[in-house]
Amino acid sequence: TPVVGVLALQGDVREHLTALTAAGAAARPVRRPEELAEADGLVLPGGESTTMSRLAVLFGMMDPLRERVAAGMPVYGTCAGMILLAGRILDPRAGQETVGGIDMTVRRNAFGRQNESFEAAVDVAGVPGGPVEGVFIRAPWVESVGAGADVLAVYGGHAVAVRQANALATSFHPELTGDHRMHGLFVDMVRAVG
Ligand code: GLN
Repeated sequence: TPVVGVLALQGDVREHLTALTAAGAAARPVRRPEELAEADGLVLPGGESTTMSRLAVLFGMMDPLRERVAAGMPVYGTCAGMILLAGRILDPRAGQETVGGIDMTVRRNAFGRQNESFEAAVDVAGVPGGPVEGVFIRAPWVESVGAGADVLAVYGGHAVAVRQANALATSFHPELTGDHRMHGLFVDMVRAVG
């Protein structure tokens, strides 16, 4: 059974742990480098990317995260987690750092403010069985991707799911729905690495 961590510094950690467990992983919260070292894959949850980035630096996690992701550990970021995986942020807060891993530029809060959150059916390449229910909460969109990154889903003319090698990112939050197919896709990515 693959051990899949959820970065547990801030954000909707519990929902991801539940979804990963349903998708067949041994799911664990990850706060410290030693816990990261034991994980075969990692989810970066939704929440607030600025806060998560600051806490990752404070807890000594930013460099270990960068090293594991650069070394090919499977990683899946939702919403704020997508922002953390981006090589570039269009409108970063001062000092906002990213882990990187996907050659893409994201725009934070691109779909509007908290009260403009919405749900929409999204077709995701590689996810069989029809569209997934996309929950968008102050969600980023992907402004552009580099040559190494594949766009898996588009909504409203903007890329909202991207994969580059073992790094997967969605603007939306599958962990807030009962549909665990995105987590299933990710757990399969972790299994493939062995
Ligand atoms: N807007 C948030 C950010 O910039 C992301 C929101 C979310 O994760 N639901 O981090």
